[in-house]
Amino acid sequence: MKESQSGMLIVISGPAGSGKGTVVKLLREKYPELGLSVSATTRKPRAGEVDGEHYYFITKNEFEKKIEGGEILEHTVYHGEYYGTPKKAVADALASGKDIILEIEVQGAAQVSTLFPDCVAIMLVPPDFNTLVSRLEGRKSESKESEEYRLNRAKIEIACVSNYDYIVVNENDGADKCADKIAAIIEAERSRVSRNIAVIDNFFN
Ligand code: 5GP
Repeated sequence: MKESQSGMLIVISGPAGSGKGTVVKLLREKYPELGLSVSATTRKPRAGEVDGEHYYFITKNEFEKKIEGGEILEHTVYHGEYYGTPKKAVADALASGKDIILEIEVQGAAQVSTLFPDCVAIMLVPPDFNTLVSRLEGRKSESKESEEYRLNRAKIEIACVSNYDYIVVNENDGADKCADKIAAIIEAERSRVSRNIAVIDNFFN
């Protein structure tokens, strides 16, 4: 993939159990030039999660200071914890012409769509609700209570799909195909006339 002149903001949402973590990882293995925003959160790290790689794990006090200081592009509260996108990394990526992915939930995605109306918003969903339930149960990383929260939240999130530009269904064992579909979406979006005004200008100036 080639980078466009100014970077593109790609929002990927999907309920817990949609497999978005795996799909985004695969996508970035195939297209290493795609940036990924590392969010800040106040939730505790899960086993294997690395500070600065999966998230910046910070305290509530630190998070609130960042909001007050205007350092957070968008944020939400999910299961009683703050999650938010640090502004600087996104601004730097876009300014240098690098496309960047924000893997965030629906409320944050709505804030980003208002701030960046030309962002590309993609929702990843499992094929059906039962699949989502069994994927979440199979995860074993969540408490029963957190699992229930994520299941309820999943329905609310999927109901927001009309705010998105694209929906991609992640079938079982379908992560590779999903990554290819998302890559195709990104490629098509890069060819939008509105993103290539400079190409036209070359002919007339
Ligand atoms: P988890 O605790 O499973 O890592 O994430 C919970 C939810 O928060 C997921 O839907 C994830 O996409 C979302 N999330 C992660 N980072 C951010 C962020 O920076 N902003 C928003 N709005 N949501 C986020």
